[in-house]
Amino acid sequence: MHRALLAAVQFLHTIAMSSSSPFKLRVAICGGGISGLCLAVALSRCPNIQVQVYEATDRFKEIGAGVMIWARTWKILELLGLGSAFSKIAHSPPDGSIGTGFDFRRSDQPEEGSRFHLVQMPYGCIRFYRVDFLDAFVEALPPNVAHFGMRLASYSQNASASEISLQFSNGTTATCDLLAGCDGIKSSIRAQLYRECSERSGDSTLLKFIDPVWTGTIAYRGLIPVEHLPPCHRSIADPMMYCGKSKHVVSYSISRGKVVNVVTFASDPKREGEPHNEDVWVTNCLQQELLECYSNWEPEVEQLLNQIENPTKWAIHHLRPLPFFVDRKIALLGDACHAMAPHEGAGKRISLKITNLRFINYSPEGAGQAIEDAFILASLLEQVSSLETLPLALDAYQRVRLPFANHVLKGSYDSGLMYEFNSQYGEDYEILGPAIEKQWDWVEEPSPEEERLRALQYLKDAISWF
Ligand SMILES: Cc1cc2nc3c(=O)[nH]c(=O)nc-3n(C[C@H](O)[C@H](O)[C@H](O)COP(=O)(O)OP(=O)(O)OC[C@H]3O[C@@H](n4cnc5c(N)ncnc54)[C@H](O)[C@@H]3O)c2cc1C
Repeated sequence: MHRALLAAVQFLHTIAMSSSSPFKLRVAICGGGISGLCLAVALSRCPNIQVQVYEATDRFKEIGAGVMIWARTWKILELLGLGSAFSKIAHSPPDGSIGTGFDFRRSDQPEEGSRFHLVQMPYGCIRFYRVDFLDAFVEALPPNVAHFGMRLASYSQNASASEISLQFSNGTTATCDLLAGCDGIKSSIRAQLYRECSERSGDSTLLKFIDPVWTGTIAYRGLIPVEHLPPCHRSIADPMMYCGKSKHVVSYSISRGKVVNVVTFASDPKREGEPHNEDVWVTNCLQQELLECYSNWEPEVEQLLNQIENPTKWAIHHLRPLPFFVDRKIALLGDACHAMAPHEGAGKRISLKITNLRFINYSPEGAGQAIEDAFILASLLEQVSSLETLPLALDAYQRVRLPFANHVLKGSYDSGLMYEFNSQYGEDYEILGPAIEKQWDWVEEPSPEEERLRALQYLKDAISWF
């Protein structure tokens, strides 16, 4: 496997070296969230690339909440040379030892609940405070790459022009060879791209991929200083998944155990796809609303929710699986192309009955998928030696990333149904367990390194035919 990778990279380097003048690919990244910053950091190490990040707001920012990743994403961070930086800010330094993924309990009754699944795996669930997570990328960014207050309003690329021009809302313009759309779930780049492709092809069905779809789920989020909980509260030691009919509550400690992150979900699956009646998807709400939503849940959950004085309320949206991530010299990454309900990491690979522990290579969800997009795209762009080979690299990116990310997107929604006993397997743990197990069809699927090799092989083959 490694010999094949070496051969592909050597071949692509030979092509690069054979060009007479040093080639610089100009990449404009629009959006400085996890996907944009991870891509910028990866590309800033490539001698053939000049990268700029255009962020709409006045600084890079993340919400005050937790984010978790799994061994797969951790591996990518290490491959990008970021292992040590992220190790310092993880809940504890990830060392590959077996840890808890999630401890699953039945909790929607007033008396104490009980465990029905325990997930354990190498690295367990690796947790961060989101602000620290984004900052670790920001710190790895070279100077003079980031530009703030630069909201992309539109872009122009025509078939014959060799460059793309960018028009920003503040009246300024810029040009680039490749536009990376990292502008999140409400991506205006995705909207323009799908609108134009629809006009060009006359296929109006493409327009349905522009707007995100409400999943029928409302989430509430909050952070709790650990000293506000009884020292024996399970959430302090292990990531917990408290499950009930049409609802579940996720909690885990971050910031070296100083804070417990809580996110609760309440779903009405029949309403999936309905328009959500508020334009604003994130609002503040009263604690009373949260408490009423989970009244009569087990005491352990009550203890958590009683400590969230100012919850935020989220209407959880996702995208319909897109048919393409790339058009000409524009590529979409992260939530701009596969925004998903945040259940995958927890659900997709949970199939460990407590009597039958299996250790698995866990997979990421939204942020993890965004990081994987950046890793694969940067690996390909590093090999691009001319504008003519750029579309071949983008095609390889799409061939590798689109099916995988869409698979995770769909699985993520299905996992949410299973946690809330709304899947076809209902509340019967004996059937539900194996059914969740079936969701593991991609457990054995290629590692990120193998995916990288596959992408480079596509590029090598395409260049050979070119
Ligand atoms: C409740 C919840 C919990 C989650 N938990 C997890 C988790 O534990 N693990 C996990 O892996 N994932 C999780 N996710 C998903 C994860 O947060 C997202 O997938 C990830 O943050 C997406 O990053 P992004 O960079 O693609 O988009 P974003 O973070 O949305 O960043 C987009 C950036 O683009 C900028 N922008 C927007 N429009 C423009 C424009 N026109 N021009 C320039 N800039 C623009 C924005 O200001 C922003 O900075 C969760 C999601 C939710 C809702």
